[in-house]
This record gives sequence, C-alpha cells and structure tokens, in this order.
Amino acid sequence: MNLAFDPDQPASATDALQVEMVRRASDGEVIEVRPWIQTQTEGQIHALRPQLRQSAGDPPFTCFSCGHPVILKKHALGGHFFAHKEKSAAERANCQYQEDRHLSLKELDRMRYQGQREGARHRRTKELIRRIVASDSRFTEPVIEQTWRTFDEGWRKPDVATSWAGLPVVFEAQVSNTYPAVVAERTAFYRSQGAILIWVFDQLPDEHWRTLHADTFCANQQHLFLVDEECARASEDAGEALFSVYRLRPTLDIHHSEEDGYTTLVPYQQEEHDLVPFASLRLDPEAQTASLFDAQEEKRRVDHIALCSRVQAEQVSWTVLEEDIRAIIQRKGAIPYETVRSWAALVCAIEASRLWCPVGTRYPNPVSVLNLIHDSHPAFFGHLIHTLQRLHLDPAERRTGAWKKRVEDFHAGRYKGGPIPPQHGGSAALLAWLYPK
Ligand SMILES: [Zn+2]
Repeated sequence: MNLAFDPDQPASATDALQVEMVRRASDGEVIEVRPWIQTQTEGQIHALRPQLRQSAGDPPFTCFSCGHPVILKKHALGGHFFAHKEKSAAERANCQYQEDRHLSLKELDRMRYQGQREGARHRRTKELIRRIVASDSRFTEPVIEQTWRTFDEGWRKPDVATSWAGLPVVFEAQVSNTYPAVVAERTAFYRSQGAILIWVFDQLPDEHWRTLHADTFCANQQHLFLVDEECARASEDAGEALFSVYRLRPTLDIHHSEEDGYTTLVPYQQEEHDLVPFASLRLDPEAQTASLFDAQEEKRRVDHIALCSRVQAEQVSWTVLEEDIRAIIQRKGAIPYETVRSWAALVCAIEASRLWCPVGTRYPNPVSVLNLIHDSHPAFFGHLIHTLQRLHLDPAERRTGAWKKRVEDFHAGRYKGGPIPPQHGGSAALLAWLYPK
C-alpha cells in the first residue's frame, strides 16, 4: 500500500545544505547534518521541526559556526536542511554558513575536524566532572544527562546533576561558545528550580577571552571553574571534590611616590589559580554563584582603603572620603573633619601593620604610623588595638620600644598616665564592614 505520508520512510537531506554542522544542546554533541538526517525517519524530522521553531531561550540545536539557533526547513522536492532561525543574527556573527558564502572543501574539512574535536572535548569534560563529584561522598551519586522535567517549564538535560547538603547542583561542561541567551535561560531555569548551575570549562582561555568566558566569570564573582586530569586525580586521591578555579581578587598594592615621598595603596586585581575544595565555596542559588569571595564587596573595601591612604597623604580632599563613608554606612548627616581624618589615620595604621610599610605617610617605618594614632587620635587608639588583635596583626614578639609600652599600658587601663579616653562609637560598624571576620 502506498501512503500519502509515511513517517517510517528514511529522511533525506537537500543537495546543498545551508548549515552543515549543528550542535545538539541536550548532550553537547556536534553533528554533521547530512549523514545525521539520513539516520532519521520522516516522522522524527517532522516531530522535531515544530520544537525547533517554538523553543525560545534554550534552542535544542544551534549552528556550530556562530552558535545561533537553527531550524529545520524542507525543500519543495522533499529534502531537509538546517537554516538559521534569524538570518540577521548569523550575518552579525559573521557565520561561516551563510547562503551567499561557499566554503571550499578544505574549509569544510577544517570545520568537520573542529566539530569532532569539540564533541570529544565535551565528553571528556563531562567525564572529568563526574569523577570529581563521585570522589566526594558529600555529593549524591552524579547522574549524567538525565532529563530534568518540570510541569510548567519544560525539560532540560544537565550534563552532570547531583546535590550538595540538600542543594541540587548542576554542572554544565562548556567547551564552545554557547549562545549567551542559552546561558541566561538555563541559569534562570535552574534558579527557578532552587538549583545552582555551575559552568565548567576545560581550559583557561589565553590572552583573548571570548564573550562567554567573560560573562561567566563576571556573573560568578570573578571565579572561573576548570577541570583537567590532574584535578580529577587529586580529587580521587583526597576523597574530596577539588576544582581548578581561576579568579581575580581585588586587592592592594603598595605605591611609593618618588615625587612627594608618600607611601599609598593602589587597588589592583590579583590573579589566583589553584585547586579549591568544593566544600570551601559559598553557594548562593539565588545569585547563582559559587565563590570564595564576593568580588564587588572586596572591590568596595580595597577602594575605600586606597582612598584613606590618599587622604592621609593629602593627595585627595577629606570631603571625598567623607562622602564615601556616608555612602557605605548610609548616613545623611555630615561627618566632622576631625573624625574623617582620624578614620583615615586608623585605616592607614591597620594597613601599615598588615603590610608592614608606612601607609599614607612619609615616615620611614610602619610603627610610626601606629604611634601616630596613640599621639594624635586618642579616641581611635582602642579601635586600633582591638582590630589588630582581632586580625592577629600585632604579634607580641614584633612589638618594640614606645609602641610595646603603649600597648601594655592600654591593656593595664592606662593612657598617657591617665585613664583611657572614650572611644569613638560611630566607627564600630564601619570597622566591622571593612575588616570582616
Ligand atoms: Zn551560523
């Protein structure tokens, strides 16, 4: 019997293809379109067509060259082919596969080779993540590409899904330039599920970061997750999950000006890259971050400290610092000149002790900065002693001379031969913010 439409007929591709290679979102495989279509039936292709057109944020197939969503089209003579959902997006991305562009056989071969390599890299990365998760008994048994279904939000297939202390954790291997909208959509999806999504790369980009690396890095508090064989083996040896994490931590550098002789502090971003136990990360499913520190908060702190050093060195007006303090503690009323200057001197003294250099001054040594608080800012002397103690910045064996005597006097309840002057109460909250535990 001859059917008008037979869904079991093998599908065929058109002679000329528009997008010759596509990436399947569910498992990250890079697929060569012509041989793949021939493995499908007419019924399978026709079932897939509306899915590709309807999917908004998380397209099931994307173009291998430009990463934009593709849809299936059918030629009048019956052959199927993939085309960009939005032609203009592919043009903007300078996609290799465009109607008016004819790739040479050599170029096609090169793309095919890249595709096979990427598919292999994706499989390898997933396996490394699985091994790392499996090494740590605090994770539940990792499941690979199992469908994650919800009633109203459709379904996804996370590369590796597990949970940590009751929190569902999903890892996605990232070896290619996934369309940024896909990243955003998946992040939103897992957030709505109360799960945390962590993107994992298989190598640190060299000098040229792609958009996706930069997006992922900035969205995750300047932390980028990487895995390799060494990291998987270290996890298995240690019996705990270790990820190779590249990060930039806002910090301070010491600057000595030859011109005016002052030592000040300058903010900069310090590169850190080592194996980090998963257990040491702060997981925030609402913000979708897994990090050792909050990059924005750290930046705010180092900028404030740098400003204090420049105000102390009189390179910046004290009113700039006054505004900064008011913004931090959300205070409307003005802060007196004396208090602002004393605050700057206190921060410089704490930093002088931490970095062991004469911050904010032209003094030859850091102890002079500490003594300055004792002599000129009595209402902040107690704050200095207590903060140094809390941060373990003033070990008893390092104390000498006048400073040693002054600390001992303070602990005995004496200051310049009399009682200890009342301490400035308003600084406590600011100190707790600037130097958290
Ligand atoms: Zn494309």
